[in-house]
Amino acid sequence: MRDEEVPGWWQRLGLDGLVDVHVHFLPDQVMAAVWGYFDQAEKHYGTAWPVTYRTPTEDRLRTLQDLGVREFPALVYPHKPDMAAWLSAWARDFAAKTPGCVSSGTFYPEPGAAQYVKEALERGTRIFKVHVQVGDYDPRDDELDAVWGQLADAGVPVVVHCGSGPIPGRHTGPGPFGEVLRKHPRLTAVIAHLGMPEYAEHLALAETYPNVHLDTTMAFTPFVEAMSPLPKDMLPRLAALQDKIVLGTDFPNIPYEYAVQLESLERLELGDEWLRAVCWHNGVRLLDG
Ligand SMILES: [Zn+2]
Repeated sequence: MRDEEVPGWWQRLGLDGLVDVHVHFLPDQVMAAVWGYFDQAEKHYGTAWPVTYRTPTEDRLRTLQDLGVREFPALVYPHKPDMAAWLSAWARDFAAKTPGCVSSGTFYPEPGAAQYVKEALERGTRIFKVHVQVGDYDPRDDELDAVWGQLADAGVPVVVHCGSGPIPGRHTGPGPFGEVLRKHPRLTAVIAHLGMPEYAEHLALAETYPNVHLDTTMAFTPFVEAMSPLPKDMLPRLAALQDKIVLGTDFPNIPYEYAVQLESLERLELGDEWLRAVCWHNGVRLLDG
């Protein structure tokens, strides 16, 4: 399937479009640095990673509109201290002036994190993102305990990249974040990339905790299947988790067309009802509270 065929795809399912919970927009200079990193992907990841949608912000927004992506956050995340608050402010401003973009934020284990997350919640932030490998911190860090508690109380989702793909970090894997969930069992978490490559263990977290979801970002695509294939015995569990799996893509930083993610979901053969839940209903519920 090509991108031009995407609207026909969701129309056939009877949907009004798509909701994508894992999209990145960043300040231009930060995005340039991210793209520079992907240019060196063979060195970092052992595989080339040509970014498909390496275009100006306006063009990327038009691409999402043409695809029919009705709601999406501009997920930002810091790799060092003193960055999360201004990145979050940027993401709030970007959402305020961008139709379809919901207000997002991020945080880092640092003094003041609980305070700026509280303020972000008061200003209407509807989703957060953290990246355990890029941030290189332990999600069990004391500075974050109050933050997880606030998010759990507010019922506001947080997209957590805690899987060890594409490369492991010191604190990735289901263990550290699993302990956060043991302490904050009501937290609305969206485990990014279906928890790859620790699919089974991260699916188990969604099976255990009432508000733990997984996003589909890059999962099931030929690109990822070549590196971290999904064990076939996961399919019945994916079917059973119909209400907890939600469309995510990593647009624009993907080495293939957007349509490939949708085609890869369809190829699982879990049925149209499953696709409707994943590509629309679950995302609407998470983002619109
Ligand atoms: Zn991402």
